[in-house]
Amino acid sequence: DTADFDREVASVCPFCGVGCQVSLKIKDNKVKFVEGINGPANEGRLCVKGRFGFDYIHHPHRLTKPLIRRADAPAKGLNVDPGNWQQHFREATWDEALDAAANGLQAIGGKGVAGFGSAKCTNEEAYLFQKLIRQGFGHNNVDHCTRLCHASSVAALMENVGSGAVTATFNQIEHADVAIVIGANPIENHPVAATYFKQFAKRGGKLIVMDPRGQALKRHASHMLQFRPGADVSMLNAIMHVIVEEQLYDQQYIAAYTENWEAEKAHLADFSPEKMAGICGIDAETLRDVARTFAGAKAAMIFWGMGVSQHIHGTDNARCLISLALMTGQVGRPGSGLHPLRGQNNVQGASDAGMIPMFLPDYQPVGDQGVRTAFQEVWQHGEIDATKGLTVTEILDAVHDGDIRAMYILGENPAMSDPDVDHARAALAKLDHLVVQDIFITETANFADVILPASAFAEKSGTVTNTNRQVQMGRPAVPPPGDAREDWWITVELAKRLGLPWTYAHPSDVFGEMTQVMASLTNITWDRLEAQNAVTYPSLTPDDPGQPIVFADAFPRENGRARFTPASVIAPDETPDADYPMIMTTGRQLEHWHTGSMTRRSRVLDAVEPEANCSLHPSTLRRLGVEPGGMVRLTTRRGSIDIMARSDRAVAPDMVFVPFAYVEAAANILTNPAIDPYGKIPEFKFAAVRVEKA
Ligand code: SF4
Repeated sequence: DTADFDREVASVCPFCGVGCQVSLKIKDNKVKFVEGINGPANEGRLCVKGRFGFDYIHHPHRLTKPLIRRADAPAKGLNVDPGNWQQHFREATWDEALDAAANGLQAIGGKGVAGFGSAKCTNEEAYLFQKLIRQGFGHNNVDHCTRLCHASSVAALMENVGSGAVTATFNQIEHADVAIVIGANPIENHPVAATYFKQFAKRGGKLIVMDPRGQALKRHASHMLQFRPGADVSMLNAIMHVIVEEQLYDQQYIAAYTENWEAEKAHLADFSPEKMAGICGIDAETLRDVARTFAGAKAAMIFWGMGVSQHIHGTDNARCLISLALMTGQVGRPGSGLHPLRGQNNVQGASDAGMIPMFLPDYQPVGDQGVRTAFQEVWQHGEIDATKGLTVTEILDAVHDGDIRAMYILGENPAMSDPDVDHARAALAKLDHLVVQDIFITETANFADVILPASAFAEKSGTVTNTNRQVQMGRPAVPPPGDAREDWWITVELAKRLGLPWTYAHPSDVFGEMTQVMASLTNITWDRLEAQNAVTYPSLTPDDPGQPIVFADAFPRENGRARFTPASVIAPDETPDADYPMIMTTGRQLEHWHTGSMTRRSRVLDAVEPEANCSLHPSTLRRLGVEPGGMVRLTTRRGSIDIMARSDRAVAPDMVFVPFAYVEAAANILTNPAIDPYGKIPEFKFAAVRVEKA
């Protein structure tokens, strides 16, 4: 009964980077149901996750007490039943658990300790987490799941545009007449953003979808380019080749706002569509048509997802997209822009807040003495290390090498999310001391020495920043269960035990400090967010709701110009061969979120999509002698899983698509840990695989 609630609380959906605003309807201190409200990114709309994916917060597996590993516990492994953990852990008081956590980290100390945060943390939690690692241990070994998501996009944007955030909100598509969506499946992964894309197509906008896997947005597309996996650079360079050859570029814009054009132009000469068609699998005439369509637009946007970023050439892919927008002058005007669709609800904010090893908050380089001095003055404690820290994947390698022996992991689940996850699990098991702060005994918490019970998003105060650069207020709607506490409080208590002079009493205190060191938050205050729910950065005055489009006049690079960086074709790290003849790619499904810790504990979502599955073309299933719904065995150079197979014509006959939410058939046992040299992102989107009837 939707009328049956005592009170309602305005907050933000905890799942994807669209950042839909929600009204949580509460009865007897439980969330009964959720409705969309009029946020700037969703205008009342919600997808199935936002609408029905809330009851994980009341799941019986929720952690309600701090836990400490028993002295007589079985050897560390993926062997803890989250509903029956007593053989492995014992309950502890907060004082006992915090002392154990801090003492264990301090006993190793310095560069022997590393921190993984999460893009599900609030901005304030992310800021505190990176500050604790930097200040408490004197180095920059702190990273989070952006490394597995858009790190390569950010590397390319920082290099060529001077800023890692989107240049325009996705809602700007309302003013565009052409849009490219590449390596993204927004109907499943950014469903409310996809509603704006569909409306755009309905109004007559030309929607160009590029994806090695077919997808539902195809129905709304003027062009669907189902290119060969890993052939992004050859396809995009061919399109740009046509724009150069036919002089469709915007010479005035290039001259006024960019640099290195002549090098880009010369580089593209080798990439004729006729030459590239065989590599990318798209015929030359279609490539020419797409080039003319994009270059002929009055206003055009480019959206991309992890199909672009999760490759060893992910940074090159993003460089091509940036070059395409620059040569056609499609940045800085209404309806134009570059928009990497962010994955998690706060991956933009957690990155902005400095939870990355090479940057302090607001992407200020750790190597810059002036930057470090400014932070040291505000932080008033200790020197900040000038050396870049290790990334997520490098940290786990360093554990195997014995260089890192203790970790503090906040809301992140590397035992499911890292590539070659058996390697990650072995690293977690090898640690001398692991502190995990989370709401469930996740797969990662299986390996913990101390587990600190934290709060779900609906149980705490804090701000988050969505894909549109909109900073939004999350409010506590229900109390945390048992003795679970807000994450910011836990990190502060740990910091105090590490001897740091922290006196924060509320997330608003943390946000206040962030505004002192982060120019992006100028004119954005806690009180303003309380009153208005959302402000987009940059906000030019205390009343400005924020700028949906940036870089109309100049780019935030030293000379004010954006840069063309030419990209060459690099083959995927593994190519199919006789032993592993097919290509595996991974991703998400509409109903399940990332490693499934929340959505698989949401009754409706788990009912809709209860079983681990992969997708294969019907002709492949026939060849294997497997009926749809039958089991297949997938094997790569890292390992094997058995999984139910679905028949799906969207998947090419030589491909298999595997969602990564299912622990019982974990896709990341199979994925390739080879990384992009710039963004250090693993090649989740391409592994050579053998598929057999199980
Ligand atoms: Fe939540 Fe994203 Fe769905 Fe919006 S589109 S309701 S933010 S999961």
